[in-house]
Amino acid sequence: MLEELKEANNYIVGKIEEKDSLILEMEAFALEHNVPIVTKEVAKYLEFLVSSYNFKNILEIGTAIGYSGTIMGRIAKKNNGKLTTIEIDETRYNEALENFKKANLLDSVNLILGDGIEEVKKIDAKFDFVFIDASKGHYMEFFNDSFERLTDDGMIFIDNIMFRGYLYKEYPKRFKTIVRRLDEFITYLYENHNFVLLPFGDGIGLVKKN
Ligand code: SAH
Ligand code: MG
Repeated sequence: MLEELKEANNYIVGKIEEKDSLILEMEAFALEHNVPIVTKEVAKYLEFLVSSYNFKNILEIGTAIGYSGTIMGRIAKKNNGKLTTIEIDETRYNEALENFKKANLLDSVNLILGDGIEEVKKIDAKFDFVFIDASKGHYMEFFNDSFERLTDDGMIFIDNIMFRGYLYKEYPKRFKTIVRRLDEFITYLYENHNFVLLPFGDGIGLVKKN
């Protein structure tokens, strides 16, 4: 992004004023405890998409404290649908459970404690929206397992696909495998799917089945 645009973007994102107290509480918690929740503009876009398409049956891989899950779960509930969301870390899982309780979403959320790689394979259901936001080294696998369970008019939303720009610029050595896999994943998506990459937040990938 152009430097000028980056500054303009920061200015504009500053206009997003959140009023919901639970969402505000989760944002403050995430900031304090370094939980990598979606950025505000990504949260807005996620809400915009899910509500515009009226998605009902939503799968999320990577719940963390249930921030994006609350945003999507509220819309799924309104549409008489359900959010299934998977988190590998027990502490985060418990925090998410508390937050879904506070959001009065326990009847519309199926929160799973486990590894997305195994848990998605166990699911015998179709989803019209999948939000992939977990370990980036496994995105290809999350994607393929999700795509198999995607309805014909469904959409997959992949967060952090640009991984802080490391696909392009120099990166810490420990990220070598993740960077290579993400790079191959993006090439694969362009070649094989109806895919767009939106370079805001940490990079968003969108795949539409039909
Ligand atoms: N979607 C959340 C943020 C998720 S952060 C939001 O925007 O509010 C990524 C989360 O994925 C972390 O909590 C991490 O513990 C979890 N995670 C990492 N690898 C995972 C895996 N293989 N399966 C399930 N969850 C995983
Ligand atoms: Mg993310």
